[in-house]
Amino acid sequence: MIKQIHVLYIDDNPFDRDLVRDALTATGDGFLVTEISTRGELEAALVNNVYNCVLSDLNILGYTGLDVFDIVKKLRPELPVVILTGTGSEELAVESMKRGVSDYILKTPRHIIRLPYSLASVVESTRLTLERRADEEKLRIAGTVFQASREGIMVTDPEVRLTMVNPSFTHITGYSFEEVRGRNPSLLRSERHSADFFRSMWASLSRDGYWQGEIWNRRKDGTEWPSWLSITVVRDENGEVRHYAGVLTDMTERWEASERLKFLAYHDHLTGLSNRTHLEEHIATSIKKYGRAEGYSGLLFIDIDNFKSINSTYGHIFGDHLLKRVAHRLIECVSPADNVCRLGGDEFMIYTVDRPSIDHIADIAKLVLERLALPYEIHGQTLQASASIGIAVYPDDGYDSEVLIRNVDAAMSHAKEAGRNTFRFFNHQMKTGTESYLYLRHSLLKALENGEFILYYQPQINLLDNNIIGVEALIRWKHPVHGIIPPGRFIPAAEDNGLIVPIGEWVIHEACRQLSAWKKSGISKMVVAVNLSALQFRRGDLEQTVATVLRDVQLDASCLELELTESIMIKNIDNVLDIVKRLKTLGLMLSIDDFGTGYSSLAYLKRFKVDKLKIDQSFIRDLTSDPEDAAIVRTIIQMAHSLNLRTIAEGVEDAPTLEHLRRLGCDEIQGYYIAKPMPADAFVDFAAAYGRKISDARVPTPTDHSDPVGPVH
Ligand code: C2E
Ligand code: CA
Ligand code: CA
Repeated sequence: MIKQIHVLYIDDNPFDRDLVRDALTATGDGFLVTEISTRGELEAALVNNVYNCVLSDLNILGYTGLDVFDIVKKLRPELPVVILTGTGSEELAVESMKRGVSDYILKTPRHIIRLPYSLASVVESTRLTLERRADEEKLRIAGTVFQASREGIMVTDPEVRLTMVNPSFTHITGYSFEEVRGRNPSLLRSERHSADFFRSMWASLSRDGYWQGEIWNRRKDGTEWPSWLSITVVRDENGEVRHYAGVLTDMTERWEASERLKFLAYHDHLTGLSNRTHLEEHIATSIKKYGRAEGYSGLLFIDIDNFKSINSTYGHIFGDHLLKRVAHRLIECVSPADNVCRLGGDEFMIYTVDRPSIDHIADIAKLVLERLALPYEIHGQTLQASASIGIAVYPDDGYDSEVLIRNVDAAMSHAKEAGRNTFRFFNHQMKTGTESYLYLRHSLLKALENGEFILYYQPQINLLDNNIIGVEALIRWKHPVHGIIPPGRFIPAAEDNGLIVPIGEWVIHEACRQLSAWKKSGISKMVVAVNLSALQFRRGDLEQTVATVLRDVQLDASCLELELTESIMIKNIDNVLDIVKRLKTLGLMLSIDDFGTGYSSLAYLKRFKVDKLKIDQSFIRDLTSDPEDAAIVRTIIQMAHSLNLRTIAEGVEDAPTLEHLRRLGCDEIQGYYIAKPMPADAFVDFAAAYGRKISDARVPTPTDHSDPVGPVH
């Protein structure tokens, strides 16, 4: 009910106005009356939405109550109109009722006393009508949502019997409404959850009135599927349960994507064999399991002879086929407990466990050589291949996977030197190269002192607007005699001998100094990405270094991005997690380099609060021609986005690859197609030229100052 009814009263007869005013105020302050007499005043008054009804005389000078009605309906269709009539105009009164006037009242003292009741009831019924209409609209919207929702919706009565399901429910579960009407939703139950699971679900429903979680269900056809279910308890005004309403989201796609990523984390995507991570874990668990047994375990390193020339003669695709065949034959040579792994390229490893003697391990090597030497039929071509095999034996040649792998590597080199198509066991004389090792350490140290290291910068582009958003800093050694040496030639050695720590500190300092200088000269809105090695986490005070550098060169932490590899994250996990957390509190960005090649665990990505994934070049190279690679890249991008991470593809060398990545929703790219890594001063020219080209809406081609050497891997 409305407490005070505001009446807009239109009449040009002063006598009548007195009469009406008296009638309305006689009952107290239930009415507030605004009196007007002209059409202009009426239109002006209706602009304000403050009235509850309009009361109009039927005959006003120059127009009638019906004109008033028309004006009101045009400007305020929801306002009720009541008309006052003098005697003798009943016909007009009837006409006005037909048109939709809410009531009419005779202007005689006897009838006018009805006026307050008439107005009050007209106003109240209008209010109720409007309310009902709003409710109906709400219901209509709810009904449409129910019907059209992509989520499956189900409603039960208080006894948990289904009373309503929507079309998506039928689509997802395979059950029509007729089939489930009156039944308990437990008909969807899979075997995957214990009774406890459901007990705690009901406990939280009765405690919180709400439950949500991941649940595996079973479709009508018997297949099981993962879903996200939220259940709400619907109660009436008295708190009695009226319904349970459940919303089911089909999680199959997300689940498959994460399963795929789990598979990727442990497998080589070309052959489906284990990858290095998997192999290392396998060796570690086997050593635990068989370590004390009498037998021997052997690590075989198998490298296909002349694979590079096969690849360049017959092409990549042919080479890939050959690698798949090789994988197949290797599996046939071992027993199920053994692990066959592809390290990458044409390098394979087999870890065979618990053999009675070393001779048995040699037998496997012989079998492998024999099998791999059989002719291959690929694309109508017949081809012969051979392999060189190195062997390291546990426990004689090493007590853990790291040492075994290092030694098997040496053994394999010797097999190659021995003329290929043969195998060699590791022996301790093989640890050669020590002199050159010491020599390299000495020259790296000198290089650091003499300032022979320089940084090249490779731009990174945002695919949304094609703008440069940052650069990756890549180290080069400007050797006084040998010229520019790429990092692949000295970083592994620096990692071995520990010099990567001071070199890495220099890189962070130099990259930040350069960016700060660029910012001062007006190249703004850029981030510099710096590569980190695992050792920098284990030794050296990384957080302190970064904080000091940022302060020294007056650079905001948000301008620095650190590139970590997946292997850093899994080694010595807690310590790394601590350091990474502290680094993140400084405010800098973290990305995972070479993503997809290592241990791509989602759990780590979440724990480390990573910002960006750099999809490894190996997936990008053949993106447009290899559907397998395209599927992997798509999965990575999807997963990244569902975890709110950005993605950058590296190694983009041509426009079709760029366009493909754009279509897959990749956020950023980096690669020779935009520019090769280049010295700082060349980058300034590049950025200026690029800016001009972007404003002509064209993506530029590489500049001439760029890196003369390709990457070394
Ligand atoms: P990364 O971090 O994966 O760097 C990308 C490498 O790919 C770079 O090789 C780059 O020149 C190359 N590259 C970029 N675009 C393309 C392309 O379109 N096609 C091809 N084929 N290659 C492309 P670079 O500079 O030789 O670096 C090699 C590796 O050395 C780096 O791999 C990184 O792991 C390491 N590295 C470089 N600088 C540092 C550093 O300061 N510290 C540490 N710890 N490692 C570094
Ligand atoms: Ca990198
Ligand atoms: Ca990389």
